[in-house]
Amino acid sequence: MADSAPVQNPPAEQPAPAQGAEAPKGPSKNELKKRAKEEEKARKAAEKAARQAELEAQKAAAEVDYAKDFYGKLPLNQSQTRERRERVQIASLNPNMDGQTVLLRARVQTSRAQGSKMVFLNLRQRTDSVQALLTVAPEKVSKQMAKWAASLQIESIVLAEGVVRKAPEFIKSATVGDVELHLTKLYLISGLDSILPFTVDDANRPEPPETEVEDVQFKRVLLDTRLNNRVVDLRTQTNQAVFKLQHAIGQLFREYLDSRGFTEIHSPKLQGAATESGASVFQVSYFKGKAFLAQSPQLAKQMAIAADFERVYEIGPVFRAEDSNTHRHMTEFIGLDLEMAIEEHYHEVMELLDGLFLHMFRSLKEKYSKEIETVRKQFPAEEFKWRDGPEGTLKLSFKEAVDLLVEDGVPREDLDDIDTVNEKRLGRIVRAKYDTDYFIIDKFPLALRPFYTMPDPEDPTVSNSYDFFMRGEEILSGAQRIHDAKLLAEQMRGKGIDPASMSYYLEAFKLGCPPHGGGGIGLERVLMLFLKLNNIRRASLFPRDPKRLEP
Ligand code: ATP
Repeated sequence: MADSAPVQNPPAEQPAPAQGAEAPKGPSKNELKKRAKEEEKARKAAEKAARQAELEAQKAAAEVDYAKDFYGKLPLNQSQTRERRERVQIASLNPNMDGQTVLLRARVQTSRAQGSKMVFLNLRQRTDSVQALLTVAPEKVSKQMAKWAASLQIESIVLAEGVVRKAPEFIKSATVGDVELHLTKLYLISGLDSILPFTVDDANRPEPPETEVEDVQFKRVLLDTRLNNRVVDLRTQTNQAVFKLQHAIGQLFREYLDSRGFTEIHSPKLQGAATESGASVFQVSYFKGKAFLAQSPQLAKQMAIAADFERVYEIGPVFRAEDSNTHRHMTEFIGLDLEMAIEEHYHEVMELLDGLFLHMFRSLKEKYSKEIETVRKQFPAEEFKWRDGPEGTLKLSFKEAVDLLVEDGVPREDLDDIDTVNEKRLGRIVRAKYDTDYFIIDKFPLALRPFYTMPDPEDPTVSNSYDFFMRGEEILSGAQRIHDAKLLAEQMRGKGIDPASMSYYLEAFKLGCPPHGGGGIGLERVLMLFLKLNNIRRASLFPRDPKRLEP
């Protein structure tokens, strides 16, 4: 069959009449009419199809995207190429650059299409942002490019090329508001594979004023949402500033002590015995046995003094297995610890610590006013106050502090110790009376302090110990330590600790140790109170508390 051409029988032709048969009649008039109609219909359909095809070809020609190389998703960066093209920081853009083409990597903070021909993007790098716009123009920006740009998800990371232009009027929604970027190219470096839990703008809104810190339920939920999605939360201007300030506090601590002959040490966090105060240490498995996470570098830093280091400090994690669900406790925090030999009197250490804090406060105010201002927009607070004049820092004895509270109406019998509530009350009294948010309480009852605290030479119920306060909350605890092995063992026994259980520590003093003292500061507490963040978790990158081990 394949080779034989099919016999074509035009439908109009009739088969040849069979021999001897009667010749058929021709088609009727009606039949002819019908056929003509059908032919006309077929012709019209063919014409219509041809017209349609032509239209489609024209449309396709119009849709050729002349900007197709100027936008789109970039391939996964696996360091394939290195063009070494200069990339600029948004913060450096200024009206003098008018007309310059620049390249930058940024996040899409907001995106807004205006019709199909214009897209406004707010591009952000850390805390800096600039308005960028994309305008459809022949051979440069196509409609497809604008549509694609408008569809970019908020928080996507893009590589943008554009021409800097003086802004016709100051753009309030951007931090760099005197210029705008006229985009010529826009590529996606990293998009979102997940739903954004909240926008960075939302997370940056001012917190409603807080009266009492711990008991506002809905805020706790809000904070939890932030902490559960901390990576997005940390992108806010506030948090970028908070962690610059955290960095600054550590840096200032280091700088001050480095210039005073201190050596930075790194003590182990894994320990063989639950020392200091047994109840509050985390136990971890250690091969076939167990170990404990250090609740402070206390013992190690004192042993470094016994080893003739003279002056040491450490910045490191401190672990507390305390089920304290408060605004100021975490199970892991950063301790700023120091210890130093003293010549005559423990006030040498206390004064050095005071000098350290004054250095921190002054430097933060001088060098980080921009960051402080940024945080204040979200967490309005009165400026942190300290006494910087010749009268020096306010120093109260524990007894004087108790008297102030009694004068204010607190029953004396409630004041064997100053609890959190009374601490805050004292802070308010001191602020009103002495106009300072920073003060020292000296001479705590010995019973309230750890076994290694040196007793007062005249009154054995009192000790050579001090706490420092900011806005009515403790930020530092310190003291002269016992450097005499016999007295140390005696004090241990007095607190129910078997000296044999701490023989390595005790040995350091048996081998001779200079008189010494020191203190421990909580980094996040200082940060929280300086900025009045109201919750220590806000001052910690990824906070750890009894209910939170992640993220
Ligand atoms: P508090 O009485 O507030 O529980 P503490 O007396 O247990 O504190 P220390 O053991 O003396 O504190 O620790 C020294 C410093 O470390 C404190 O002044 C504080 O700044 C900080 N700090 C102590 N415990 C915590 C904690 N759980 N979370 C964060 N910081 C802490």
